[in-house]
Amino acid sequence: MTKETLAAAQAAPDAHSSSDTPIPVTVAYGDGIGPEITEAVVRVLEAAGAPLRYDVIDIGKSAYERGITSGIPDEAWDAIRENKVLLKGPITTPQGGGYKSLNVTLRKALSLFANVRQAKAYTPFVDSHHPEMNVVVIRENEEDLYAGIEHQQTREVSQILKLITRPGSERIIRYAFEYARAYGRQKVTCMTKDNIMKHTDGLFHTVFDEVAAEYPDIESDHQIIDIGAARVAAQPEQFDVIVTLNLYGDILSDITAQIAGSVGLAGSANIGSDVAMFEAVHGSAPDIAGRGIANPSGLLVAATQMLVHLGASDVAQTIKNAWLKTLEDGIHPADIYREGLSEREVGTEAFTDAIIDRLGDEPSTLQPVRYRSGGIHVEPSPTPEQEKVLRGIDVFIDWDGAGRDPDVIGQGLEEAAGTVDWQLKMITNRGVKVYPGGLPETFWTDHWRCRFLPGDTDAIPFDRVLDLLGALHGAGWDVIKTEHLYTFDGRRAYSLGQGE
Ligand code: NAD
Repeated sequence: MTKETLAAAQAAPDAHSSSDTPIPVTVAYGDGIGPEITEAVVRVLEAAGAPLRYDVIDIGKSAYERGITSGIPDEAWDAIRENKVLLKGPITTPQGGGYKSLNVTLRKALSLFANVRQAKAYTPFVDSHHPEMNVVVIRENEEDLYAGIEHQQTREVSQILKLITRPGSERIIRYAFEYARAYGRQKVTCMTKDNIMKHTDGLFHTVFDEVAAEYPDIESDHQIIDIGAARVAAQPEQFDVIVTLNLYGDILSDITAQIAGSVGLAGSANIGSDVAMFEAVHGSAPDIAGRGIANPSGLLVAATQMLVHLGASDVAQTIKNAWLKTLEDGIHPADIYREGLSEREVGTEAFTDAIIDRLGDEPSTLQPVRYRSGGIHVEPSPTPEQEKVLRGIDVFIDWDGAGRDPDVIGQGLEEAAGTVDWQLKMITNRGVKVYPGGLPETFWTDHWRCRFLPGDTDAIPFDRVLDLLGALHGAGWDVIKTEHLYTFDGRRAYSLGQGE
């Protein structure tokens, strides 16, 4: 069924006369090979009796050509938000300035917090160096360094803010455990760098431990991201579900996709609290568009993820097993066809027919899938009340005088701060303590973090901070930013300087 005939059939009053009310999903056929593979996927969904109704939207190339720089017209936004689920064919992002990546726009605007990518080997039917590999990377998608809050602060120094939140961490971690249950997986591994980033990655790790305790049926462990990633690259078969922060997940999901040897067969899900989007990992493949040879597997796998998400796990399982059986029978589209491994090379249509013919069959060499019904639901808990007390302040100063001698800035700041009853506790340069008592070998840049504590009180009224800043400014120091030193329920909530 083409995009046009599907839309026409659904406009007819007697379309989908199933007794159950079908679940409305929004479908974008996409660009390049998008229409061919989406048509194939919808054909399998219909043949398998997926309880769905399809609302077709036009996004991507046609919208970009009409001058809509996001690639998504208003009516498409409405359909996506109304149905809450989008099955999306690949989109061609136009080259040149002014156009925004549609995926980034969707992800940000709809708050799609989880990116889910499975990397699985289908050996011996598809080549892979890691025949036992079957790992899912669940990547936090909104926070971390990707908030894009960057500033140049001095001639020599630029910074980015890494933001990790408790609800954001809880949502993704809970999703990972719910995912493991829904897909019959055994173990969730958390990866962070909390030996270094104790407050940001440390928060993610703490929340992981809290949530893991609620899922005693699922094994859990934590690994430091560097050694964890190395183990993933060397022995990916040791991993099941991995949940991690945005940047680590970005890198890790590319590593797993590469080493599995089956990127073309991979689906990807972007999950939000309200809306979820499912698509193939690959792009619109303009080089083979319209030739009837595209492999619809990536989008089909994504469609099975969509069905599990919606609670139609039985249909997802039927489709996935029929697809595995088709691979196992050696019926392969051109991109995975290999002399000796494959039986028959087929185009998109014949591959789709072969899957439909096998609905109800299961693979015998590859492991058949078993999905739990009920969908995946994540309810974040409210953040507990905590007593927040201001204890001190880090003032960042741009200073390039006196050969950058830390004793000069240290004594100068002490003098200015003393006039308003503040004490300079220490100065660090790139995190290393340089005053009082640093080493001459330390490299000094023009960016000085100066930690001040009040001389007379424990809990500081904010006016005292303004007094200090006024005194520093008045003495000619170039204040470029401040960070407050808080305790929460008495717990120190800031890092110490190296050597403090
Ligand atoms: P691509 O994934 O489209 O193609 C890379 C290679 O893989 C090509 O040789 C292509 O023929 C082949 N290939 C990809 N999918 C295939 C399939 N299903 N069956 C058979 N062969 C397949 O990557 P690209 O060429 O870098 O990008 C093309 C366009 O897709 C670009 O405009 C890019 O911006 C866009 N893109 C979109 C998405 C998305 O919508 N999520 C993702 C990646 C790229």
